[in-house]
Parts: sequence; C-alpha cells; structure tokens
Amino acid sequence: MAQQDTEQQRARASADSAVLPVDDEGFVIDTEDCEGREAAYRERGTSRPITVVGNPVLHRECRDVTEFDDDLARLVDDMFASQRTAEGVGLAANQIGVDLKVFVYDCPDDDNNRHVGVVCNPVIQELPAELRRLDDSNEGCLSVPTAYAALARPDYAVVTGQDEKGNPIRVRGTGYFARCLQHETDHLYGSLYIDRLSKRERKEALRQMAEGTPRYPTVPND
Ligand SMILES: [Zn+2]
Repeated sequence: MAQQDTEQQRARASADSAVLPVDDEGFVIDTEDCEGREAAYRERGTSRPITVVGNPVLHRECRDVTEFDDDLARLVDDMFASQRTAEGVGLAANQIGVDLKVFVYDCPDDDNNRHVGVVCNPVIQELPAELRRLDDSNEGCLSVPTAYAALARPDYAVVTGQDEKGNPIRVRGTGYFARCLQHETDHLYGSLYIDRLSKRERKEALRQMAEGTPRYPTVPND
C-alpha cells in the first residue's frame, strides 16, 4: 500500500512538473515555481556519485532517449538529487554514469533569474552573427572537480530537444545559463569543457583537479 501511494504521488508530481508553459515565441517558461519544481524532483530522487574525467562514459556520445517512461522519470529525479548534493547548476546523465542524452539544470541567467528544467536529446542551434557575442567567464565542471578555467562561449544560447514526456521543447538562455546549456549539451556528445581549452590550459585544469578534493562523492576511475 505504501509503495503504491508513493508510485501514485510520483506519477502525479511528475505529470505536474514535466510539462512547462510556453511563451509567445515558443520557448519554455522555466522560471516559474523553480523552488517547488526542483524540490519535487530532488525529493523523489536518490543522489548518485559523479563520474570524473577519464571515465569512458564521459568521452563518447550518449544514446538518444527513445522511451519517455517511468525509468526516465526516475533518472531525472536522481539527476536533480545528485545535482543538489554536488551543488551544481547543470548535470548530464553520463555524469552519474548513465549513457542517455538527458540533462537537467538549475541555473541563474544574466538577470539573475533562476531557470529549472530538463532537456532530452538536446541540439544547440546555430546563432545568427548579430546574436553571437563571446563571453570569456570562468567555467567549471562537476566531472573535473575543483578546477576552473576561462573559456569563451556565446553569451546567448538556444537548445531544441524534448521534455521528459517526449514533447518538443525550445529553451533559451543568457549569460551563465547560456554557458550551462552549451556545457551540458557538449557532455552528451562526449565533450568536456577542458577539451575546448588549449593544451596548456587543459593541463593546468587537470593539475588543479589532482591537487583538490571534491566536496561530493565521485566514482573512482579504474
Ligand atoms: Zn560538466
């Protein structure tokens, strides 16, 4: 009985939180009730340790999501729980060892608006030249713990994909959130931000990682 209640609650809560409203331009509105939505996912989920650079699952393209079922809902819940434990602003499925194209985010934008959401099968859209301005802020990654490096990326991003129910979605972001959308999509194609650095900067980031101690559980590499 208790089990069934939990299942029903899960089904109800995930049905409520999965489908976001859309604005006039067709972009999801992912800024409303962030606190409640993030908490609902996280509280249903179980936090899992984070994979780190060198783990093969991070260095190859993940599989497309084709089944938008309860297993996917549970994965998304676990990803929100893990993201919170690691104090991340975005998390890709392969960062908890799952070979599927899904990422979650809980990230502020340029105007300090909080965005919370889920994207399956993300594709970054090419920007028209007039929207392409590079920002060279610092970037870090839960899978390269304790390291940071400046990396130039466009300060605006649009991602197309699907929500966890399989509905087509478009997400856009500015500032740090634009960086997050690009960073998480890269993960699902097997690329880490340090792969975009110069050889010297990459080495420096790996040195920082070797000298630091992560503040959250990680999966040891063989
Ligand atoms: Zn990352």
